[in-house]
Amino acid sequence: MRIEENVVLAPYTTFKIGGPADFFCTVTTKKDLEKAIVFSKEKKIPYHILGGGSNMLIADSGFRGLVIKFVLRGFIWKELNSKSVLVTVASGENWDAFVAEAVSRGVYGVENLSGIPGSVGGTPIQNVGAYGAEVADVIESVTAYNTETLVFQNFSNKECGFGYRDSYFKTAEGKRYIVIDVTFLLEKEGKFNLSYKDLTKYFTDRGVAPTLASVRAAVLEIRGKKFPDLQKFGTAGSFFKNPIVHKRDAERLKKQFTDMPMFSVSENKIKIPAAWLIEHIGGFKGIESNSVGSFENQALVIVNYDKARALDVLEFAHSITEDIFLKTGIRLEREVQLLGF
Ligand SMILES: Cc1cc2nc3c(=O)[nH]c(=O)nc-3n(C[C@H](O)[C@H](O)[C@H](O)COP(=O)(O)OP(=O)(O)OC[C@H]3O[C@@H](n4cnc5c(N)ncnc54)[C@H](O)[C@@H]3O)c2cc1C
Repeated sequence: MRIEENVVLAPYTTFKIGGPADFFCTVTTKKDLEKAIVFSKEKKIPYHILGGGSNMLIADSGFRGLVIKFVLRGFIWKELNSKSVLVTVASGENWDAFVAEAVSRGVYGVENLSGIPGSVGGTPIQNVGAYGAEVADVIESVTAYNTETLVFQNFSNKECGFGYRDSYFKTAEGKRYIVIDVTFLLEKEGKFNLSYKDLTKYFTDRGVAPTLASVRAAVLEIRGKKFPDLQKFGTAGSFFKNPIVHKRDAERLKKQFTDMPMFSVSENKIKIPAAWLIEHIGGFKGIESNSVGSFENQALVIVNYDKARALDVLEFAHSITEDIFLKTGIRLEREVQLLGF
């Protein structure tokens, strides 16, 4: 394993933004991972694990530490019984390639999560979700490396502390762990989850019965319209989380904004689509400033249209959060992770 110096990080992120890391290495084995962590300890510098860089906004000044690009590979497929399959996937595998493989093997559970960029190891961190599904629904366990004690540990689904775009691995304590592999429990005879409105419409319009392959194709087609082409523009997908507010606040807002969609998440909690707030209350959809904009097809997606700086993105995001806060009292929370600020 070679540790390089002064490596520009922008090409390693889907936002295509970010200055140099003081140190950078690509890790393909557990042994190299240990060496990289020991290097950062000896140098007394922080480290950062980089998967596909699809949920990151990196500072224009870069990162004063060691960036570890984690590319550990491998799959172990195991028939558990006549109904279920267990598959252990190494962190560095591409998430969507894994979904494609599961669909082609005819196993259910991850098809709604088709097309999400990034690595398998990145998925438990924010409990990725889309179209009514979350990885927490199918994760059996996670193996992680404790960078303080230098031992490997196993976490059950419960121990991962999954929540909405959240997990134990995002907490101050959990950040000491590096995900090595993830074990998924998939079903041989599953049920389709077409509850999400765009998916329901896709199949009703066509009048066809869903199959694993057609659900994946539907999700990919729907997503293709909601996100910009990553070959042309930079983005980290949804920039903000959907706010979850108290029922009485949601009802107060509903009186003022009668079209506002609301989804009940528990007895007293309501989820409001951030995209709706940004589009209809903020009026930001399709607006561009300093090469940064809210995507014309999905307001929640902030786009780097042409050599935007991290600061431009943060300023644009700030103008959205302030506007929405002033008009609704809701403070939008960032979904995208920052590095080097
Ligand atoms: C176009 C687009 C669409 C997207 N759509 C969705 C969506 O529908 N749903 C959704 O939930 N997300 C979505 N995302 C966000 C992103 O793809 C996911 O969060 C993805 O799982 C991030 O994985 P990554 O490997 O790219 O992680 P990175 O961006 O490299 O890292 C993200 C965070 O995870 C940490 N991390 C990564 N790997 C490990 C590891 N092995 N161990 C410990 N920590 C690790 C990093 O240190 C960092 O804090 C989208 C992004 C884009 C660009």
